[in-house]
Amino acid sequence: MTTAYKPDKSTTPMMAQFLEIKAANMDCLLFYRMGDFFELFLEDAEIASRALGITLTTRGKHMGEPIPMCGVPVKRADEYLQKLIKAGFRIAVCEQLEDPKEAKKRGHKAVVRRDVVRLVTPGTITEENLLDNSRNNFLTALFESKKGDEVALASLDISTGDFEICAFAANDLAGELTRLSPREILVSDQRRDGGEGGLAGLAEQIGATLSQQPAIAFNARTGEAVLKKHLKVEALDGFGRFSKAELCAVAALLRYVELTQIDHFPVLRAPRRRSLQGVMVIDAATRVNLELLSSQKGERAHSLLGAIDRTLTGAGSRELAARLSAPLMDVKEIDRRLDGVGFLREDDRLRDDLRDHLKATPDMARAMARLSVHRGGPRDLGVVQQGVLQAGRIAERLAQGLGLPHVLGEIVECLRAVDEKLLDELSRALVDDLPVLAREGGFVRENYRPELDEMRMMRDESRQIIAALQGKYADETGVKTLKVKHNNVLGYFIEVTASHAEKLMQPPLSDKYVHRQTLANAVRFITDELAEAEQKITTARERALAMELELFADLVAQIMAVQQQLGEAAQALAKLDVYCALALLAEERRHVRPKMDDSLAFDIKGGRHPVVEQALAKEKGGPFIENDCVLEEGEADGQRGRLWVLTGPNMAGKSTFLRQNALIAVMAQAGCFVPAQKAHMGLVDRLFSRVGASDDLARGRSTFMVEMVETAGILNQAGERSLVILDEIGRGTATFDGLSIAWATIEHLHEVNKSRALFATHYHELTALTAKLERAANVTIEVKEWKDEIIFLHKVDYGVADRSYGIQVARLAGLPDSVISRASEVLTLLEQAEDRKKPTELVEELPLFAASRPQSVKAPAKDSALEEALKALQLDDLTPRQALDKLYELRDLVD
Ligand code: ATP
Repeated sequence: MTTAYKPDKSTTPMMAQFLEIKAANMDCLLFYRMGDFFELFLEDAEIASRALGITLTTRGKHMGEPIPMCGVPVKRADEYLQKLIKAGFRIAVCEQLEDPKEAKKRGHKAVVRRDVVRLVTPGTITEENLLDNSRNNFLTALFESKKGDEVALASLDISTGDFEICAFAANDLAGELTRLSPREILVSDQRRDGGEGGLAGLAEQIGATLSQQPAIAFNARTGEAVLKKHLKVEALDGFGRFSKAELCAVAALLRYVELTQIDHFPVLRAPRRRSLQGVMVIDAATRVNLELLSSQKGERAHSLLGAIDRTLTGAGSRELAARLSAPLMDVKEIDRRLDGVGFLREDDRLRDDLRDHLKATPDMARAMARLSVHRGGPRDLGVVQQGVLQAGRIAERLAQGLGLPHVLGEIVECLRAVDEKLLDELSRALVDDLPVLAREGGFVRENYRPELDEMRMMRDESRQIIAALQGKYADETGVKTLKVKHNNVLGYFIEVTASHAEKLMQPPLSDKYVHRQTLANAVRFITDELAEAEQKITTARERALAMELELFADLVAQIMAVQQQLGEAAQALAKLDVYCALALLAEERRHVRPKMDDSLAFDIKGGRHPVVEQALAKEKGGPFIENDCVLEEGEADGQRGRLWVLTGPNMAGKSTFLRQNALIAVMAQAGCFVPAQKAHMGLVDRLFSRVGASDDLARGRSTFMVEMVETAGILNQAGERSLVILDEIGRGTATFDGLSIAWATIEHLHEVNKSRALFATHYHELTALTAKLERAANVTIEVKEWKDEIIFLHKVDYGVADRSYGIQVARLAGLPDSVISRASEVLTLLEQAEDRKKPTELVEELPLFAASRPQSVKAPAKDSALEEALKALQLDDLTPRQALDKLYELRDLVD
């Protein structure tokens, strides 16, 4: 980032220190602590002043040139860090490691000892205001085997301690990275990105920064050793067998954490091992397309999560997001979750009480994480105190529920395991209104430690002594307006107006009152007595503060000693928040419990789109029309099938119907009740959802290319247990090419993949296919025509659409009348002419566009001479010689 500056003769000792530290952190902006500011120098200053919009100044010279400098106040450093992190920078925070007074003892020119205490990168932040409390902030290391077939990810959210390791086939990488949406991805510097559709493009899409690491950092043996060290175990067997690839990823991850956190390693919970066998596999495009956690514009509001999230805590919201992005594949586990939701759906009084408590439950996981990396303050202690208090209350209330299902019983147990002693200790130790920073003191309650009370008393007594001195000095000098004041430069001093000053400067008063400063209207003095009292106050204050800081460290240690227990309690509270929220949602929006099993059923009666339904209700846009989706084997009667070919007018609701069924599948397997009258579903192992013709220009792929790459992915991977949603595949190319591709895709899905599938299309020709394919059926969405207008009924039924009503929809959209009537003309002609004419001939026959002259449609023109000659041929009667002659004749007709 900054080109190397070499110190020379003119370099000051401080600048030499800066250059040395900077040289060791060339890829970072260096925040160099000087008193109350972090200063940036040289190129760093130029970059930061531009990125932050702060003034660039200079300080001294280096090699004859002024040194650019800019600075940010320490108190507001978080704000500036946030901006720089967002802009993709990494920051090295360099602190003063000793009191400047200590440095002075070494000589006038001695420089305060400084060093980097932390590297701030997007994936390693813990500060509350730098984090989004409803999402995890994962740092993920990516390892790929040499052959490129196996991939492992090791991910840690330093802000909560969540730690996850997984390995899978290379094909699933994009989907898994999209699920985790890490803020920073660590990759080997030997890795070559595939360019088009590569990791860089994906990282940009999910908002992650790529950080290159030396290839050597991905070492399985080191991985095993550091993992054992940090989990404090002799063997890793208790966590299952880690593959070599997983350990390589772990090695790079933990090395980076050590590197960036310097001396303070964060809390590390036992790693969660994920295998894709245990979850519904959803690839990257499907996640984006179904807008599971954020809309395609990157907003949470119109996503599935945004629509159904009724949680009250940040941790609850993160848990719900994690469940939606990794739906389960285990019927028993899904049923357990559904039992939890169902129980709280019925017992609304219990649910309401629990939610009242949850409202007052703070984010314990994040507070503990900050405390573990020595970035926490008294308020974080307060968060733990409040969290433990609420955990107790919630356990008590929840335990009153009669016949609690398994998942809720587990929560009670987990909450009850939290040690009461800690709560007692924290409640006795902490004041009610806590300051942000420990170094400001004042957070320990009176009566907690007698020594501290004593020290504070001495401090306060001396303050009273000073107040008393003011009266005494006023009497002594006869100056009634005399005041004792304090400032940072002089400490305590006596101040009189200029007119009284003379008196104090004359003997005998001048023996006692020593002159310190003359201002325009006031003169200032000190006395030995005052200096002594001040000394006492300072000493008492410093000692009281030191004592408080010791108590702070002690309380943090007590919390850390039970952090595993607290972490589990925090997790239990998050789960409870999710169960309560889903129960409330089920009641509010009339969701039902889905029946789940291992069959291949997909039987949704009266299904609704969870997001569109709410949007319609909000905009008072009329009711959402329920629709069935029953994908089942049937007779070859075109009435039942596992593959539905859906035709219907534009705007009828095809895309909505397709997505609502995919979302219902995700919700059901995540353990939510679903928006339907009734639902029965056999587990879906892989979910695919594609919309034809969506651009991915950022990754340099044309509309049609993207569509085909994605379709290829589906046809190669989908199986009998998968659910495939295809919306207008094949529309990004010429009509016949598109139709042929769509045709072949349906055949392949039906014959080879055999998946449960919904295929929406405007190619009405495809509806003929169902006569031949026994497990396919045609469905359509009804509309009514009324006086040339169309009325959308949004009702799905067996059958085929006769047309697409594109022109009527275009009229609704406000295309000029002249264009609409012209389009109708062209359409009629095209329909009548069908495929017998070349477009060039049609152009001949269609009089030029005449906006002011709407025309009635003419009968199609007669066949061309060539066509007439061709039709007249009696092919079976021709000899080879005659045939050749005929060919010459025909060619002449074209000429
Ligand atoms: P096109 O073929 O033009 O892409 P489409 O058939 O896919 O259209 P959608 O985009 O799904 O249509 O739906 C159009 C609009 O109709 C939606 O924005 C929604 O407001 C409304 N809509 C869809 N389904 C329903 C429904 N079941 N009940 C009520 N309104 C609906």
